[in-house]
Amino acid sequence: VTAGEDPASAGGRAGTLRELGERGFIDHVRRRLRPPGRGVTLGIGDDAAVVTLGDRTLLLTTDALLEGVHFRRRTAPLRDIGAKALAVNVSDIAAMGGEPRWALLALGVPPDLSVADVDELYDGLGETAERHGVSLVGGDTTAAPAGLLLSLTVVGEVEGAPLRRSGARPGDAILVTGTLGAAAAGLAVLEHGAGSAAPEAAEAVCRAHRRPTPRVAEGSVIRASGTATAMIDVSDGLATDLGHILEESGAGAVVRLADLPIDDATRAVARAHGVDETGWAVSGGEDYELLFTADRQHAATLARDVTLKTGTPVRIVGEIAPAAEGLRFLDAAGRPHVVRPGFDHFA
Ligand code: ADP
Ligand code: MG
Repeated sequence: VTAGEDPASAGGRAGTLRELGERGFIDHVRRRLRPPGRGVTLGIGDDAAVVTLGDRTLLLTTDALLEGVHFRRRTAPLRDIGAKALAVNVSDIAAMGGEPRWALLALGVPPDLSVADVDELYDGLGETAERHGVSLVGGDTTAAPAGLLLSLTVVGEVEGAPLRRSGARPGDAILVTGTLGAAAAGLAVLEHGAGSAAPEAAEAVCRAHRRPTPRVAEGSVIRASGTATAMIDVSDGLATDLGHILEESGAGAVVRLADLPIDDATRAVARAHGVDETGWAVSGGEDYELLFTADRQHAATLARDVTLKTGTPVRIVGEIAPAAEGLRFLDAAGRPHVVRPGFDHFA
């Protein structure tokens, strides 16, 4: 890819996936596939595909967790890995405002894994499945000498129109459920230790990293409100995932860093590590909160309504702007702030 050229449009001439980047790669695949067939309302480009079957609307999503890339068996018990693998897929269904129903698991297992380990893994999967009303109905098994692989596919259902990434309009408020940055703080503790942070704070952020909670009920309330315009789950970090909403909606945005919801445990761990927690909140990823936009007039009511019905706090963190303004982050004094991009598998 030469300077100034869009890597995604370089197509076959781009040498490697590193040059293309994860987003460029997906765009490349999207262009190569035949147009979607009968019953496909939405193909590649959102958190889940949308298909219609009679009068029902189904959501389809798949996400894999790979040892050495997404987790290390040294720092994550197999029960947590199983629970998280299903949770991150459920989160993509939640991001469309749907309810998860059925799952398939393709498992790549190192031959030296014990049966007790496999049981732990399935116990974790079972915990998430039960919590969210998902039935594990099948899968596939292969030997994977290089490391454990869990590839999950989840089918969900939505009443009415699912909430896509593409509906944000200038003037809309940007909202987020829960808090941001805890999962990244947890990863820092798992990789580098707690330092001087209190054990309770370290434990809380590790738990956020190992056991993310998909926001299914919240997503459903947000979609049913009729006042939300776009939604995504925060898997790769606020900057990257808001970027996806902006790309699909053809818009820009302003985010006020001082308004980002960051919990006390994350702040304590950041202090102990000598870093600014804002970086984790913006670029960290794996929080699996819902990031959504809503009509400005109804945003505060919607935020209150979600909290009332689910107990989950919701915060307004910025506004959608015209595309020409790009994505800007402002510090507490209103000065522009440069942020690191979020996670990219090929960067
Ligand atoms: P998420 O972070 O919500 O899981 P991704 O960034 O993984 O979303 O994927 C974005 C979109 O690209 C989704 O619609 C997904 O189905 C699609 N996608 C990702 N990888 C591939 C692939 N290798 N082939 C076809 N579609 C893909
Ligand atoms: Mg997603």
